Amino acid sequence: MDPAELAIDPDELRRLAECAKEPIRTPGVIQSHGTLLGVDAATQVVVVASENARGWLGRPFADLENPELQEAVRSGRAIDPVRVVWEGSPTDAIVHQVDDLTIVELEALPQDEYARTAVVTAINRLTTVASVADLRQQAAAEIRRVTGFDRVMIYHFHEDGHGEVVADDSVPELESLLGHHFPSSDIPPQARDLYVTKVGRAIASTSSPTIPLLAISEELRTVDLSNAELRGVSPYHLQYMRNMGQASTFSLSLVEDGRLVGMVTCAHRTERRLPVLLRRALEVLAAQITMQFASMREIARLRHLVEVRERRTELLAPLYASDDIPSALLRGPQTVLDLVPADGVLVRIGGTSRVAGDVPPLDDVTRVLELLSGQAFASEGLEADRPDLSAMLPSTAGLLVVPLAGPDDTLVFFRGEVAREISWLGDLGTENRPSDLSPRTSFSTWKGIVRGRSEPWGTVIQDALELGHELEVVMERRAEAQLAELAMRDALTGLHNRRYLAHRLADGSPLGLGGRALLFVDLDDFKSVNDVHGHDVGDAVILEVARRLVTHSREHDAVVRLGGDEFVVLLDVVDDDDVHAIADRLVAAIAEPIVTDRMTLTITGSCGIVVAGPGEAHDRLLDAADAAMYRAKRAGRNRVSS
Ligand code: GH3
Ligand code: MG
Repeated sequence: MDPAELAIDPDELRRLAECAKEPIRTPGVIQSHGTLLGVDAATQVVVVASENARGWLGRPFADLENPELQEAVRSGRAIDPVRVVWEGSPTDAIVHQVDDLTIVELEALPQDEYARTAVVTAINRLTTVASVADLRQQAAAEIRRVTGFDRVMIYHFHEDGHGEVVADDSVPELESLLGHHFPSSDIPPQARDLYVTKVGRAIASTSSPTIPLLAISEELRTVDLSNAELRGVSPYHLQYMRNMGQASTFSLSLVEDGRLVGMVTCAHRTERRLPVLLRRALEVLAAQITMQFASMREIARLRHLVEVRERRTELLAPLYASDDIPSALLRGPQTVLDLVPADGVLVRIGGTSRVAGDVPPLDDVTRVLELLSGQAFASEGLEADRPDLSAMLPSTAGLLVVPLAGPDDTLVFFRGEVAREISWLGDLGTENRPSDLSPRTSFSTWKGIVRGRSEPWGTVIQDALELGHELEVVMERRAEAQLAELAMRDALTGLHNRRYLAHRLADGSPLGLGGRALLFVDLDDFKSVNDVHGHDVGDAVILEVARRLVTHSREHDAVVRLGGDEFVVLLDVVDDDDVHAIADRLVAAIAEPIVTDRMTLTITGSCGIVVAGPGEAHDRLLDAADAAMYRAKRAGRNRVSS
C-alpha cells in the first residue's frame, strides 16, 4: 500500500466523477500541423480525408506515387514512420489500422533539426545514475537538452492517483514546480487508460484551429482516432494547458507492469514540434528509465529485506532464554521499535502487557482490539478510516495491529499525527474554475495542510507482519522446549525424573576422567509418615529431602527423584573417597530434624553406592545401586552401603 498522502475529500471525489465523463479527444478533427487519409481496406479508395487533403476524398490511393507507402497501405502493414515527399516537402508518414480503415498520417518535418544520436547518448549517460532522485532529475535534464523545450517535468503518481512533480528542469525564468502536487481529477481515468498504450503524445499547438475531417459517411468522419498521432485533443485539456502557459507539449508515459506510474511532460511557451522518429526514440528512453526505476526499487527492497532480517534475528534470539518475552522485546540493544518505527508499542503475550513509548490507556486499546476481533489492521488516518476506533484513541493517527497465535497475543503500534503541508498546483476550489470540467484558471502555488494522518506505514506493515510470524515461531519452539524439559522433570519436586536419568545413562557421552557414581537413596519407613501425618506432610517431607539432596551435593551433580521416596544422585567422580564423603553428607543431611509449620519430625534415609570406572557400561548401574541400597536397609537403615 503506497500511502495516500491525502484523504480523498468529497470535493475531489465529485471532481473525479465529473472528469470521468470528460471527452478526452475531439472526434472529427485532427491537429493543425498534419494531414490524415483513411483508406478503405477492401476498395483501396480514400474514404476519409482531412480538409487540407480534400481533393483525395473518393480517389483510389493507388494514385499516390510512393511505392513504399502504397505497399504498406495495400498490405495493411503498420509503418512508423517512413520518409515521403508530400506536396513537395519531406514528410513523415505513419500507417496503422482502425477497424476496416487504413489510416495514413502525414507530418511535415519540423524546421528544427535534431541530432539523431542525442537520445542514444542520453540513454547511455542515464544508465550510470545510481539513485531514483538523481535519475529523475538527470532524465528531465537530458530530455530537455534533446528536445529544446522550455520545461521538462517528471510526475510520479501516488496510489490514490494524485500526482507529484518529482523532477523539473526548466529555463531559468520559469519558477520550479518541483514538489508540487496535482489532484487525481486532473487526468481522467479514460485518459490514463489510453496513456498506458499510447506512450508518447504530442500537442503541437494549444491555440491553432484544428482541421476538420471529411468523409463519405458520418460514421467514418468520427472514426476513433485515439491511437492516432494527430488526434484532436479535448478542449478542456487544451484550456488546461493554456492556463498553465503552455503553447505546445510532448508527454511520455512511465508504464510499469501495465500501470501508469508516472509521466514526463515537455512543455514550451511557444509552438514547438518534434519529428516522429525523435518522439519514438524518447519513448524508448521512457521505457529505459522506467526499467531503471523498477530495478533500483527492487535492489532497495532486497537490501531492506536483508537488513530487517538481521535485526529481527538479533531481536528474537535472546527470547529463547527469556521468561518475560514482552519485556525482552522492549529492552535490549534491539527492540521491536527498531524494526517497526512508531511512537509507541504495546506487546501483549500470555496475558502480560508491556508498553514502550507513547501508548494510549490500556483499557481503551483493549476495547479497540476487541472491536478488531483478532484481525490485522493498519491505518495511517484512523479518524478518516475508522471513526469508531478513533473516538477511543483520540491521540492516535496511525494504528498497526499485528495479531499473534495466542488468543489475546498481539503487537500494537501507535503513531501520532504529523501535520503536513502540501503544495498544490493551483487552488482546487470552485472559485478557481468556472465550471466543474473547467481546468483551474490559476496554477499558482496553493498550500493545503493535511491533518489527522501519521507518517505513512509503507513497507513497515510487511515488516511488522513478518516480525509477528517469526515471533510465533520462536514462541512455538520455546513451548516445545519447555514441554520437553517438563517431560524430564518430576512434578512435585522439580527435580529431574526417571526419564532424565535413563536419558543420561543411555547417552553415549564419555564418562568423566574418573568415571561416574550412582547414589541410590530411599527414605526409611516413609509410609508411616503418610500414615501418621497425612499425605500433605509426606509431600512436604519429600520436598525438604529433595532440597537437602540438592544443597548437599555438588553443583554439577544431577539429583533425580525416581518416584515415591526414592532418589538418585548422579556424580562425576575423581576418586572413591569423594563418593563416600558425599554419600555420608547426604544421609546426615536427611537425618536432620524437619520443621514444618505444624510439627518437627525426623526421618532417615538409606543410601547405596555404585561406581563405574571409565568406559564401563551404564545399563546395570541403577540395579546395582538399588541392590546396594537394600544392603544399607538390611544393615539397619540410616546408613551408606556399597
Ligand atoms: P522402607 O524403609 O522399607 O523403604 O519403608 P517405606 O515405608 O519407606 O516403604 P517404601 O519405600 O516401599 O514406600 C514408599 C511410600 O511412599 C509408598 C507410598 O505410600 C509413598 N509415596 C509414594 N509417592 C508419594 C508421594 O508423592 N507423596 C507421598 N506423600 N507419599 C508417597
Ligand atoms: Mg522407603
